[in-house]
Order: sequence, then C-alpha cells, then structure tokens
Amino acid sequence: MCAARACTRNAECLRRGLVVSHDAAGPGGHPAGLYFHHRSGLEHDPGKQIPGHPETPARLEAIESALSAQEWLGWAPTQAPRALESELELIHGAGHVEQIRQMALSGGGLIDSDTVVGERSYEAALRAAGGACAMVRALMANQTAAGFCGMRPPGHHAERDRAMGFCLFDNIAIAAELAIRECGARRVFIFDWDVHHGNGTAGAFRRRSDVLFASIHQERIFPGTGLLGDVGSGPGEGYTINLPVPAGSEEDLWLSLVEHIVLPAACAFEPDLVLISAGFDAHVADPLAGCRLQTGSFAEMARHVRDFASERRVPVGALLEGGYEPAALAQSVLATLTALAGDRPATSVAPEALLTSRAAAHIGRYWPL
Ligand SMILES: [Zn+2]
Repeated sequence: MCAARACTRNAECLRRGLVVSHDAAGPGGHPAGLYFHHRSGLEHDPGKQIPGHPETPARLEAIESALSAQEWLGWAPTQAPRALESELELIHGAGHVEQIRQMALSGGGLIDSDTVVGERSYEAALRAAGGACAMVRALMANQTAAGFCGMRPPGHHAERDRAMGFCLFDNIAIAAELAIRECGARRVFIFDWDVHHGNGTAGAFRRRSDVLFASIHQERIFPGTGLLGDVGSGPGEGYTINLPVPAGSEEDLWLSLVEHIVLPAACAFEPDLVLISAGFDAHVADPLAGCRLQTGSFAEMARHVRDFASERRVPVGALLEGGYEPAALAQSVLATLTALAGDRPATSVAPEALLTSRAAAHIGRYWPL
C-alpha cells in the first residue's frame, strides 16, 4: 500500500496540521492508515435523555479497547479537528447548524423521539464532521491510501435542515462535498453498507452526477426510503443506486450485490475518491435490524472495495455509522480495518439469482454491469 502512495510522516503531517501518533505502524514502519477519533465522541450520550438508547458511548469504548489491545492494527490514531461551520454548511442550512449549536448551549433536548442533543453533542458532532474533512484532505493529498473515522454521532440520516435517526450532521456528505470543492476530486463514489438507507446522503446528491451513491439496506425499516426504483433525478438520474434487501438476508446476497452491481457501476463511474458509510448494524447480532451478516462479511465487502480502489490507485476512507451490539461492532470494525489495510484479495462470488438479476434490470439501464 505504501509502495503505491507516498507515506509521508512527521514533518509532512505537521505541515498539514495533522496530529498523528506514529507509535502504531504497519509493516515497514508506515501506518496502515489514519484512524480519526476524538474523546468528545465519548461525551455525547443520548442515553442520558432516553434511557436504553442504543447509540451509546459504549460503542466507541468497545472499538477502541479492542483496537488498543492490538496496537491499533498498525493504524495511526489521529485526533479529529473541529469542522468549521462553513464546512457544515457545504451540506446543511445555516439555521440547522445554529439550531444544534443553541440546543447544546442551552443544555440539550430532544429533536425527535430518538435523536438527541446533549450539552457535549455539538462538540462531538463538530469533531465527527471535522474528522471526516481531515480524512478526505489527507487522502486527496496522498498522505495515506486509507482512512477510518471512528467517530460519533453518525451522520448518514441527517438531512439539509433536519437531524434525524441519531444523526446531527451528515459527515460523509460533508466530506464528499469538501473533496470536490476544495481537494480537486472530480467524482466521488459513496458506498453505504449500513443496514438503514442513508437518506441524508442520498438527498444531498440525488440531482448530482459527480457523486455516485450506492446503498445496500434492509427494506421496510427506518427511514423507509431507498426503493430500487429511486435512481436519482434530473442530471443525477442513474447516479443513485438503491439496493433494498429483505430481513434475514445473508452474506451471499450482500456480496453478490457488491460484486455484480455496486462495483461494476463504480468502475464505469471512474471515481477519484471512494468513501464508505460503514455501519455494522446488518450484523446478525445487531438489535436494530434483521439482516444476518457475520463479522467476516464486512471484511469481505471492505476487501472488494479496497481491491477496486487500489487497482485504480484511488484512496478509500470509511466512516462509522451504525452498529449497536458493541462486541460485534468492535470485531467488525477490526476486521474491516484489517481488510482495508490489505490482508488478502477478495474472493469472487457467483451472482445470487433473484435479487441481483432484478437489481441489474434497473441499474443496468444506466451502467454496464
Ligand atoms: Zn443504521
């Protein structure tokens, strides 16, 4: 990986304002990738206002305790900076940003029945978006070929003027827009493998042809969007790929859709940046949904994406979204980081017959599959 991209350390990181610990390092002394995090992610706690809320600081504690026990798998832990409000406003209305800021300042409150702002939530959300921006800047400057944002609150449900689904700001949409406006990216491919449809991200780019958004998600659950026939609109028609799957879906279907629908379309799109909305709530142990992926399923999806990107010398950045069973989440993140760093090539699977063919009939109108 470092042979493909210059791994710039110390002086270069400092010059670009990155705070990178080089204690962790992969083979040859180079970090496997940059792992963005910040302690404020542990201070945003919806459970204080909604007891039993699943989006808890324990999620990050489980991930970081597993990672630190394995020397961060060679990834370099990197402090996420705060996003500027102007960066949030690449995607969100100024009124929405101000509403979240004011709610936090006044001690917090409920946005809806499951989305909460607490005293420290604005800081955590600024860092989550800021980590995504810093990751994209590092990826586009060839400082690293891989990045991961282990941050919360998650982002992919947040709409332009509305927080929802545990999400305050849409971190991955902000990062993608920043890559295009500031970092010279011409086309960004976003793959959302969270079990819920990323309605916020889809909405941000549904009329755009410079962002290809592809999502695999469980049908008929929150937020209720993301039908197969929704392919974007206007100049963005065809640049939205929604692949709903039934409850109970297993790895064979998900991997078939990745290999035979998502990546062939991405190949024709020719992105210069790949971002993953990496939710882990399609895991069989997850309490919020009914899919049946295993820890290794996420690793295999990550391998497919990494192989795709590395063949084209395009960087890959992943951002944590959902995943609500802390032990399964931690193991799935570790498996994903190992795969993104390049453990072994992905294994090809035969196309699953029914849903892959149905998806191909829709998506094949826009992309050579
Ligand atoms: Zn989710």
